[in-house]
Amino acid sequence: MEPFEYVKPASPAEASAILAAEGSAARILQGGTDLIIRMRGDFVHPKIVVDLKGLPGIREVAYNPANGLTLGAAVTMNEVAAHPLIHAHYLMLAEACETIGSYQLRNRATIGGNVCNASPAGDSIPALLCYDATAVIYNPAGERRLPLMNFFKGPGKTDLQPGEFLLALTLPEPHEAAVGVYNKLGRTRVGDIALLGVGVLGWPQPANPSGSGWRIALASVGPTPLMAPEAAALLAENTDDEAVEAAAAAVMNASRPIDDVRASGAYRQAMVRVLARRAIEDVLARLPM
Ligand SMILES: Cc1cc2nc3c(=O)[nH]c(=O)nc-3n(C[C@H](O)[C@H](O)[C@H](O)COP(=O)(O)OP(=O)(O)OC[C@H]3O[C@@H](n4cnc5c(N)ncnc54)[C@H](O)[C@@H]3O)c2cc1C
Repeated sequence: MEPFEYVKPASPAEASAILAAEGSAARILQGGTDLIIRMRGDFVHPKIVVDLKGLPGIREVAYNPANGLTLGAAVTMNEVAAHPLIHAHYLMLAEACETIGSYQLRNRATIGGNVCNASPAGDSIPALLCYDATAVIYNPAGERRLPLMNFFKGPGKTDLQPGEFLLALTLPEPHEAAVGVYNKLGRTRVGDIALLGVGVLGWPQPANPSGSGWRIALASVGPTPLMAPEAAALLAENTDDEAVEAAAAAVMNASRPIDDVRASGAYRQAMVRVLARRAIEDVLARLPM
């Protein structure tokens, strides 16, 4: 690895000033489980590494029923997976974070790093999208907020502008009876990056013909994480067996997988339908309707 300067700013303004001044010579570090691998592999050569973990609030979890959940960008995967209030209100997020790598990795890997790495395979992202997360972004002119889906611009590309970084993610309070399932397929049962991932959230919504509302989000089947709104709309109409099959097919049609070293696009497309159907059935079996 090439030598680099390490800085740990104490305020967002200081961090932003360094990032703006150094441009592409600077890289943000949180857990380093993506960045350090890329530096060691000779893919990136930052002159200066800016560690955000010293910023006030960036490692904090806050929850109240009126505002929902605020997750500091540097909260670790193990902290998310073990947090009692996240278990109580956002269980799919806790379960998705627990599928990431190993226990040791999850002690360092952060939720903000997973999002900002902008890998289509990021396992926390489908759950965050299902819970309608917003990215809270520090900008020198003031904070800006962006629906998380608009944050992703391509593999490894985000909407972040020079001098900006992710401060936190906010998730509104879901319906108290919402049920979420994240189905992940890897080459091995645990510890592998997702070949594909399907997140499904359902909740009672009496105004819909089916009596339920839905959000469905996908990992590793397109250049960015994806949502499947057509499938969600089908389930809002009807949730009988035929409708569930049609919704699973709509999830498959929303996917745009490629062939890569881990799986062919055709295999991913076939399996996204299977995992989607299983997740929808699992949610339906537990929805109090
Ligand atoms: C062995 C191994 C197994 C893995 N398994 C999985 C897996 O199963 N599922 C999965 O999803 N991932 C997996 N990963 C990838 C990685 O662990 C996760 O993406 C992790 O959440 C990254 O978090 P981090 O804090 O380590 O990020 P870092 O490496 O610190 O940062 C990641 C990227 O985001 C940028 N960044 C970090 N924080 C911010 C911020 N606040 N604002 C703006 N930019 C920021 C960094 O500059 C960098 O480009 C694995 C990695 C390894 C090495």
